[in-house]
Amino acid sequence: MAAQQTVDNKYVYDFAEGNKDLKDLLGGKGANLAEMTNLGLPVPPGFTITTEACKAYLATGREPGGLAEQIEAHLESLERGMGRKLGDPDDPLLVSVRSGAKFSMPGMMETVLNVGLNDRSVEGLALQAGGRADSAASGGADRFAWDSYRRLIQMFGKTVCEVPGEEFEHAIDEAKRAKGTVNDLDLDADDLRALVDTYKKIFAEHTGREFPQEPREQLDLAIRAVFESWNAERAVIYRRQERIPADLGTAVNVVAMVFGNLGPDSGTGVAFTRDPASGAQGIYGDYLANAQGEDVVAGIRNTVPLQELERIDGKSYDELLDYMARLEGHYKDLCDIEFTIERGKLWMLQTRVGKRTAAAAFVIAGQLVDEGLIDMDEALHRVNGAQLAQLMFPRFRLDHDFEPVAKGIGASPGAAVGKVVFSSDRAVELAAEGEPVILVRRETNPDDLNGMIAAKGILTSRGGKTSHAAVVARGMGKTCVSGADELDVNVPAKKFNVAGQTVNEGDVVSIDGTTGKVYLGEVPVMPSEVVQYFEGTLDPERTDDPLVRTVHRIMTHADARRRLRVRTNADTGVDAARARRFGAEGIGLCRTEHMFLGDRRELVERLILAGTDREREDALAALLPLQRADFIEIFREMAGLPVTVRLIDPPLHEFLPPLEQLAVNVAVAQERGEDVAKEEALLAAVRRMHEENPMLGLRGVRLGLVIPGLFAMQVRAITEAAVEVTRAGGSACPEIMVPLVGAVQELETVRAEAEKIIAEVVGDSGVEVLIGTMIEVPRAALTAGQIAEAAQFFSFGTNDLTQMAWGFSRDDVEGAFFWRYLELGIFGISPFESIDRDGVGRLVRIAAEEGRAARPGLKLGVCGEHGGDPDSVHFFHEVGLDYVSCSPFRVPVARLESARAAVQTTGSDPR
Ligand code: ADP
Ligand code: MG
Ligand code: MG
Repeated sequence: MAAQQTVDNKYVYDFAEGNKDLKDLLGGKGANLAEMTNLGLPVPPGFTITTEACKAYLATGREPGGLAEQIEAHLESLERGMGRKLGDPDDPLLVSVRSGAKFSMPGMMETVLNVGLNDRSVEGLALQAGGRADSAASGGADRFAWDSYRRLIQMFGKTVCEVPGEEFEHAIDEAKRAKGTVNDLDLDADDLRALVDTYKKIFAEHTGREFPQEPREQLDLAIRAVFESWNAERAVIYRRQERIPADLGTAVNVVAMVFGNLGPDSGTGVAFTRDPASGAQGIYGDYLANAQGEDVVAGIRNTVPLQELERIDGKSYDELLDYMARLEGHYKDLCDIEFTIERGKLWMLQTRVGKRTAAAAFVIAGQLVDEGLIDMDEALHRVNGAQLAQLMFPRFRLDHDFEPVAKGIGASPGAAVGKVVFSSDRAVELAAEGEPVILVRRETNPDDLNGMIAAKGILTSRGGKTSHAAVVARGMGKTCVSGADELDVNVPAKKFNVAGQTVNEGDVVSIDGTTGKVYLGEVPVMPSEVVQYFEGTLDPERTDDPLVRTVHRIMTHADARRRLRVRTNADTGVDAARARRFGAEGIGLCRTEHMFLGDRRELVERLILAGTDREREDALAALLPLQRADFIEIFREMAGLPVTVRLIDPPLHEFLPPLEQLAVNVAVAQERGEDVAKEEALLAAVRRMHEENPMLGLRGVRLGLVIPGLFAMQVRAITEAAVEVTRAGGSACPEIMVPLVGAVQELETVRAEAEKIIAEVVGDSGVEVLIGTMIEVPRAALTAGQIAEAAQFFSFGTNDLTQMAWGFSRDDVEGAFFWRYLELGIFGISPFESIDRDGVGRLVRIAAEEGRAARPGLKLGVCGEHGGDPDSVHFFHEVGLDYVSCSPFRVPVARLESARAAVQTTGSDPR
């Protein structure tokens, strides 16, 4: 070890040295460029500077020792291989400097093309281009060289030196206007030469220095800019949204340039090996002749569908298809590709396992199994619960009268309805007021990110399936229609025209990200096919919808593979029935609070105001049959499956009217001379029962111990209902759960009383009633060994456990400072959304272990929102719980995630 310290860290890898498994070190782009190189695909030569170098740079603000020398060595070897020197005045080698982190962050970071051009080498490049076989007229070669140079100044200025991009945009627009054209290609060599002068002036004005002429200085500054782009604001936002760790850093790829802008026999494109929206097999992509890479993605000029390349350049097309098939077979997954054709020669510039919609993820996983590339266990890892949740979003109901006003590209599915806004800021503003908004832009760019996050959907008039809007929206799972070119969008005037109508900011539109259709006004929505399947109204064996068939197939496999049982939180028969159709294997949490609401409030008031035992007993006796009826309905729906009923939990004053309202009622009634005795008594009760911290007050088991007969009434209602259902031929399996227990003595007291009632009611019916407790007070978790002596099961109430472990009052903190905590990275995600493994999770683990040690086979579950959160489900699997319980709509998600937790594979991460 000590001996090896004398060797500098290796910060630079030639493409031939890397491979696809080195993403941590080389970033996704670099690792895959290396992989393609080693597969023998035509990748322009180059090298990758590691994420370690980036991290060292970001930590110290300086290039780490040895980096400069290693770059020099690799550059020399690249120059030798190419037979050209970087920026050589007569025959220059040019390179691109490309960012590439472990996870793809489309458009988030920087790339600079044509590095090595300067006032002299631009002439050399023209000679080189003119001299290449098959060259266009020499005017073409000059034009090409000056176009490349102006691109360098523009990209370098913008990304390396923070010159505002619009300055360059204005200048080129101005040049086009002077020429009377809107097409870049109409600018000739002289126009571009003049434009380069203008660009250089802009550069000098904004940076206080001349555009650097020294090629190596250009290279070093560009590399540094890529390092720094890791911490650009938009990259930071994107990472937060996508939950990509902030400390990975980016690699930098230095790649010999090939040119798609050498004339009509050159061009550049992007492709997917299958449709990333639907998963359908086939070739999907966009091609743009006579252009350099970023033109396609930026949606600046209109691309043609990739299929047309067959006609334009059949040889390159066939080759491309061959490479795509090889890449799919190799990666065993959908790949996306960036390529350039330089005068009939195809170059592969990028590949990765492609992003896809939720629907495509399922369909493709099924196809890959059928094609023998992966097995069903691996298929489970090609999809996830978040995607399944997306497929359960509602769709538009279009059975009558809704005519689309425009049709764009269905870039990211879903049905979104909202008010039109034209700027990211306005989207954020309105969304903060709770308004659903649709962000409408000609095309989006990375500065629109905040607005895209805030919006329900995104609508653009330009750009294809691979435009910025499309890629980012798909990543976010947000509805997007792109390239709806019938829309005439006028951002400054905050309106668009379509089909002879004007739509202003604030008008409502509906967009369908599956079909690409755009509707004016609000289109009603209906359940998705996947929900219809779960509901049982769509038969997976009969439909020819590949999505439903694949979801069925994967869910069937998931159910066979998972260890965790999945229950639901349901308080009514209707919810219980639906959850059962969604696959719930019981109820993990039946709250009884709602049984005290509505017209039963009056009974609760009587209970609270009872002055004598007799009055209290009367109120409870009146509540008993009502509760029994509720439980009967639930036990019927869940016949044969366990139903955990939680005894009343919230403080009783929550059932009384608010103080202010009562005070007003009393005053008004007094004014009118009415009898106010009852109002006054209620008012007094509300004052008496007021709590500073209701969350920590008289609630849960404490109520049961303070108000005689309250729990007893509930236990009786539950047991009587179970007996009645069972005697009628059903099968009820009640589990009575005591909330908020912190000490075994509390539970023992409640239990002693309950057991008497149960024994009396059950008689010879054969009904078995379990008594257990929630673990939601930290003290309960820490004394779980004692509590288990009195509990037949534990159910972790992780909402309260989180509140109490952190000392957060959830209702107060989420709005007040969580945003700041997220911003500072104190947590990556709210601990109410996904369980805090280190703290709250530790309490769960201790309680599970010590509870089971005291009572082997103790049944363990979790109720609360974490039960339907994918990451949390994996944690509960690891800790060894028996089941999770979640809301009905989350049940399929929990089924899938439990299986994914149970089945370990080495599958690739589709990010
Ligand atoms: P991003 O990560 O945003 O996709 P890239 O580094 O892939 O950025 O660069 C964007 C585009 O620039 C590529 O798709 C490609 O078309 C073009 N490009 C990058 N490097 C080269 C190169 N060496 N030769 C030709 N074009 C290149
Ligand atoms: Mg790229
Ligand atoms: Mg609770």
